[in-house]
Amino acid sequence: MKCSGCGSEALVSGTILDSNGSRVNFKLDDVSTWKSMLGIGTRGVRAYGCLHCQNLQFGVDFTEKDLKQYQQFEGQQPSVLERINSETDAQ
Ligand SMILES: [Zn+2]
Repeated sequence: MKCSGCGSEALVSGTILDSNGSRVNFKLDDVSTWKSMLGIGTRGVRAYGCLHCQNLQFGVDFTEKDLKQYQQFEGQQPSVLERINSETDAQ
């Protein structure tokens, strides 16, 4: 991983804690708040501090299921456009 600020690879990994010492999580917008309170739909957050420019950046611990779900969604968009384009070409 590279620093998004300066491109350096001198990153130090860490954990983001709130003032109570609890880990900060990433909540998927697709998941309702009450579900997230049960621990559903929240993912761990990894933090990286850059030694060169002191930029702080985050990573999300997506699950295999998340990757499948969202990558599938991502892949559906071009196919819709392709379909529209092919319909336009046919006219
Ligand atoms: Zn940097």
